[in-house]
Amino acid sequence: MSYTYDDQNIFAKILRGEIPNTTVLETEHSLAFRDLYPQAPTHVLVIPKGPYVCFDHFAQTASDAEIVDYIRAVGEVCKQEGVAEDGWRLISNAGHDGVQEVPHLHVHILAGRVLGRMLAKG
Ligand code: AMP
Repeated sequence: MSYTYDDQNIFAKILRGEIPNTTVLETEHSLAFRDLYPQAPTHVLVIPKGPYVCFDHFAQTASDAEIVDYIRAVGEVCKQEGVAEDGWRLISNAGHDGVQEVPHLHVHILAGRVLGRMLAKG
């Protein structure tokens, strides 16, 4: 699978500073910010700064430095948000069947309440 990155997506605009965000953490290669429509008391999105469509694209083509930075950024957000004790969920939607709305890799960090089973039926 080859991926084409659309640089007009919302997260690309956030990275260029064209629209605002509530930043939680910024590192050399990654940015974490609060989801505009939170689905849990803690709902943070973590994105790489590079032009990657989804996790698969990132894993195949990002540099080791970007990948390490990104994974560590997820861990650092969890630490900052204090979610480790009660638990949390990491989700990354990809493509049509994954119902990915924004075509720039992001993981959702969700926490702050019991989140229920992972998937609703249907
Ligand atoms: P996904 O369905 O995994 O692509 O999720 C995209 C997420 O981006 C949704 O949870 C939206 O609420 C969130 N979102 C959309 N626009 C913004 C924005 N400008 N700032 C922060 N989060 C956003």
